[in-house]
Amino acid sequence: LTNKKFHPEDSTITVGNVSIGPGTLTIMAGPCAVESADQVMETAMAVKKAGASMLRGGAYKPRTSPYSFQGLEETGLQYMKDAGEAADLRTICEVTSIHALEIAVKYVDMIQIGARNMQNFELLKEVGKTGIPVMLKRGLSATVDEWLNAAEYIVAEGNANVVLCERGIRTFEKATRNTLDLSAVPVLKAKTHLPVIVDPSHATGVRAYVAPLSKAAIAAGADGLMIEVHPCPECALSDGPQSLTFEDFEQLCDNLDPYAKLA
Ligand code: PEP
Ligand code: MN
Repeated sequence: LTNKKFHPEDSTITVGNVSIGPGTLTIMAGPCAVESADQVMETAMAVKKAGASMLRGGAYKPRTSPYSFQGLEETGLQYMKDAGEAADLRTICEVTSIHALEIAVKYVDMIQIGARNMQNFELLKEVGKTGIPVMLKRGLSATVDEWLNAAEYIVAEGNANVVLCERGIRTFEKATRNTLDLSAVPVLKAKTHLPVIVDPSHATGVRAYVAPLSKAAIAAGADGLMIEVHPCPECALSDGPQSLTFEDFEQLCDNLDPYAKLA
């Protein structure tokens, strides 16, 4: 169902009034984690003004250490909903369990399946049954075929609203948090009709590399970007070093303009 051979035309996935697919460049931006009502509201207003059409923010955080901040859960989802409505942005939040999914569908416009859950097949089947738009991130060490099979799990349950997100993979290289596999973009474009988003924030872990790789992602054919933005990156409870300030993000969006027109 995800294979381009049987569906040669590229798909457009709609999330409310936002389209993700050919001819559009969808920018999803926001904090790694929802930390407070003010933090998400302020970020929503800033990213909207800069040109984003979707607000991201984690309410359930899959942290490497169990002692790190785990997220505000349902309260965080409510803050996302309020900020999305106030700024006129569609919202996307990660779910880490079937329980979280059942709650999140009441609050957000799009569900994110994170890298750590790419092969959580029970979760994929449940998200497939809901029909809600879903962004499936590439697993930490997943091949393109494993990733497409994971997408197939969702579509096979009747939910065709799937977008893929390249977020970097594990390699021997330690200069960046992960290695952004930009070749995955044209490879996916050859193999599947599903839209492809690139997340240079989690791929690099370094603020300074986010802008150049955003431009490269668009040049490679990505349909959109997911970028972490925080009102005060040095105060962030997670992923501060890779988060852009409002000013950085605005500048990036201004610089992307000529690239976006190439699409
Ligand atoms: C995220 O987007 O918040 C996240 C945890 O990303 P990933 O699953 O790609 O690590
Ligand atoms: Mn993050």
